[in-house]
Order: sequence, then C-alpha cells, then structure tokens
Amino acid sequence: MTTSRYLADYAITCDRDFSFLADVAIDVTNGRISWIGKESDAPHHPGPTTKLGGLVMPGLVNSHAHTPMTLVRGAGDGLPLMDWLTKVMWPREGQMTPEDALWGMRLGAAEMLLAGVTSTCEMYLFEEALVEAANEVGIRLVMTPGIISTLHGESFGAAQNRITDIAEFHSQYHDPNSLITTGFGPHSAYDLPLELCSEIAEAARDLKALLHIHVCETKTEGAELEAQNAGESTVQLLANHGVLDGRVLAAHSVWLNDSDIETYAQKDVRVAHCPVSNMKLASGTAPIQAMRAKGIDVGLATDGPASNDDLDLWQEIKFAPLLARVTTLDASSMTPQDALTMATVEGSRAIGNDDTGTLEIGSKADFIRLDLDDPTFVPVTNNDELIAHVAWAGSGRHVTDVWVGGKQVVAHRQLTNFDLGQALQQVQSRGQRLAKDSGT
Ligand SMILES: [Zn+2]
Repeated sequence: MTTSRYLADYAITCDRDFSFLADVAIDVTNGRISWIGKESDAPHHPGPTTKLGGLVMPGLVNSHAHTPMTLVRGAGDGLPLMDWLTKVMWPREGQMTPEDALWGMRLGAAEMLLAGVTSTCEMYLFEEALVEAANEVGIRLVMTPGIISTLHGESFGAAQNRITDIAEFHSQYHDPNSLITTGFGPHSAYDLPLELCSEIAEAARDLKALLHIHVCETKTEGAELEAQNAGESTVQLLANHGVLDGRVLAAHSVWLNDSDIETYAQKDVRVAHCPVSNMKLASGTAPIQAMRAKGIDVGLATDGPASNDDLDLWQEIKFAPLLARVTTLDASSMTPQDALTMATVEGSRAIGNDDTGTLEIGSKADFIRLDLDDPTFVPVTNNDELIAHVAWAGSGRHVTDVWVGGKQVVAHRQLTNFDLGQALQQVQSRGQRLAKDSGT
C-alpha cells in the first residue's frame, strides 16, 4: 500500500486542541491520514513526496444544502419566504427531471470543491441523481432523500412507499468507506404530520441513519401547529413524538427558547447553522452561542443556492461570528477558531461523519491547500493572526488544491476529472427552461 507524503508551510488541524503546525508533513495511506507532524520528526518515507507550500487545513463541511437548486439560483429575490417558495421555487422545481437534478448537482458539487468544500449534507428529491453526480465530481455526500407533504404526505400509502424506498436506497448506497452515506430528510413539522415525522424517525433509528429536518427557520411557520397543540413549542412537540431520539440534524433552529435548547442538549441534537440564508430570507438569528455553551454540535451551512446565492462556505465562516458578535454586542463571543471548527470537525459530527473534518492520524484525508501569497494574508506576526486572516478573509479564491479521501479533485484551481464548461451550459439552458415552463 503506497503512502503519499505532502509537505506544507503551515497546517490548521482543527483537532481537539486546535493545533497549529509549521513545516508540516502529512502522510496519506489508503485514503486516510497515517501520520502528521513536523517534517523534521517524520518517519522515513521512501514513497512519493509533494511539496505544497502554503497552508493546509481540513476540507470544509456544508452541513445543510439543496444543491440542485443551482438551477433556480437567484429567482424570486425579495419575496417573503412563503411567496418565494409557493410562487417561484416550487413551480420551477416542480418541472425538474432527474437529468436536471443531475446537472444541478454536478455544477454545485464543482462549485463547492473549487471553494474547498469537501463534504455536503443534502436534503433533496432525485437522490440517485445526486449520488451519481457526487461520485462523478468527487465530493463526499450525506444524502438524506426529502419527504414533503405535496408528494408524500397526501395519503398514508404514499408516505409508506417513500419510507420503504429510502430504506432500500440506504441499503444500496450507504457505505462509510465510500463517498456516500445516507439518511432521511423529512422536510419539517409544519409541512408533515407529526405522526409521520415520528414514523420516519423510527425508520431512521432502525438503520442507525441520520434524520435531517428543518426546525424553526422562521418566526411564524410553527404558529398553526403550536396553536393546535396547546401552545407547546415545535421542538417540544418533536421531542414528545420521539422525533429527536436518534441521530438528528436540525437545520436552522433560529426560533428556539431556552428549554428547546435544553432539549437539544439532552437529546444530543446537532444543528446546521445557515447565517447567510437566514439573513437573505430575513428569517432571524439563531442562538448559536447558547447552543454551543450547552455542548451542542453546530455545523455551518449554505442552505440551497437559491437562498444564498452561492455554495462558498467561507462566507458562513465570516458571517456566523459577525452575527453572533453583533447580536450579543460582545466581540469575544465567537472566535475565528470557533468559526473554523464549526466549518470542519463540528460540522462533520453534525452530519454523522465522525472521521472527517480534522487533520489527525486516522482521519479521512479530506484536505485543502490555501495560497498564502495573497494581500489578505499579510502581515502575520503570530499564529493567531494567521488563523484570524483565514477565518475573516479566507475565500474560495485562496483554495488552490483539494483532496477528498486522499484523491486530488482540484489541482491548481482546476477540477481534475470534470468539465465545468459543459455543466455551466447545461444549467444555463435547463434553468431557462424551468423558468419558461413554470411561467415564473
Ligand atoms: Zn433548507
């Protein structure tokens, strides 16, 4: 088994101690990191060695996305959330074919890899197309097939069939040794009956699979449900119905009260925080510091590209601490280290991947190289300043090379095995068709 060695000027490891290394050697064997440390301490290495220079760090983890929405990117800007969904998004998405979703996911996966995002957790229909695109372009995918009321909630049989299909999909594609793991993606408690959410959660628990659900994104979405249930909060209702008992990823979680946060902590619910989407759609500010203070894992996420409008997680790395600081009026409330941790190892745990998101022995070799020869990374008078530059000023344009599972998928800012030009053309013409055919 060949071991490849990579040499870099610096490494941000995102390990438990947030270790920062200089003159670093990283050995990759069979897709995992087999050694990391100072080059001068490295074991004898007869195999291939690549001098990278620059800074290496774990690939970023997008913990909540609907990536084929690249096909409807930018549509309906400025509409209130429900009008935006019902008058523009759903009519256009309703026209989508599996082939459309395939191209939308190919383009989005390419966009993410070029920005240094090496894992994404997706809630969408057309799950097989998304798996195909992820394997082709080379991104790590947690695929949680969507379950929505308009398609699956109308009749008991439709919901049962969808649950059976997703369980079958899991048995076919879930493989932690590959790029693909799978879960269940019930849309939300305001969209689906609680009893159905409960059944889906049970099916997920039976397979030890991730349950990925939107929770309390907007202030008003839960009003009807809560009024029907004696004013109990959405989180409490989900907990009462056993929906939070397995491995659960709750996207958004903006409008939580203190006891909801306590429930998340007790049930070990993980959160996908989408600061840019929450600002763009005027949804609100999630109480992230309160959650993390209780030990809740919070990942960062773009949400779908229609509500962002890009898949470059570096913006979330910047906006999460900005939002946290401006709402608490406390400049120390979220550090650059916190933001980078959430974007990597904490997000990995949130989406059910416990062996990605760090540069340490045993981790999957998902890592990226940043070019430090850039105006925004100068000057550096100590390590913390460099870490701060990366968090505050880092962006996709700094990412030159990307590896997923030890395989290089971006080299010198180019995808190694994918034709971006063709995907751009396809999404352009398919996006135009969706707009035309839906009359939006
Ligand atoms: Zn979402």
